[in-house]
Amino acid sequence: MSTANNQYSYGIAYGSLPQGKHSFRFEVSDAFFRRFEGSEISEGHVSVHVDAEKAGSFMTLAFDMEGDVKVSCDRCLDEFFAPVAFEGVLTVSFTGDAEEDDFSEDEVINMQSGDTEVDLAQYIYESICLSLPMQRLHPNDEQGRSTCNKDMLAKLQALQEEAQRARSENSLWSKLSANGTATK
Ligand SMILES: [Zn+2]
Repeated sequence: MSTANNQYSYGIAYGSLPQGKHSFRFEVSDAFFRRFEGSEISEGHVSVHVDAEKAGSFMTLAFDMEGDVKVSCDRCLDEFFAPVAFEGVLTVSFTGDAEEDDFSEDEVINMQSGDTEVDLAQYIYESICLSLPMQRLHPNDEQGRSTCNKDMLAKLQALQEEAQRARSENSLWSKLSANGTATK
């Protein structure tokens, strides 16, 4: 059974779900990232596939996410689409008292006894952020040349040189005034 959920719902209603295996598909789009305040990702599209297995008092969810998200380049500050690829396993415990050590899987969400649905939006968002490299740089083209925004790089370099000049002028002035007081 495969269920395509509507684009604003990232939940699995496990309460009514029969025991056994199920699969779910979620589509992450621009609107998804706008739900997270201060998100460094403004746009993107990620397909999330979940293989779920409900067994007794818990359910394991095996995630497979793939797509592209827009981030800003650390070198030229211009935005570009970086690929997202994430695989991870999440255990949802229905009894509310599970600890990470109880399961060999990466992460555990504890539900309360009255709950019937688990919202996966936060987990999906964090997993996408985790899958991004620490340093975000425009990829090189086939010839191994940087695809950074050259105009931006030139502007940044000009700013940097200007700041350096201002610093050295400042230190020159402070040296001169220091000498001036010393000779008085
Ligand atoms: Zn760049």
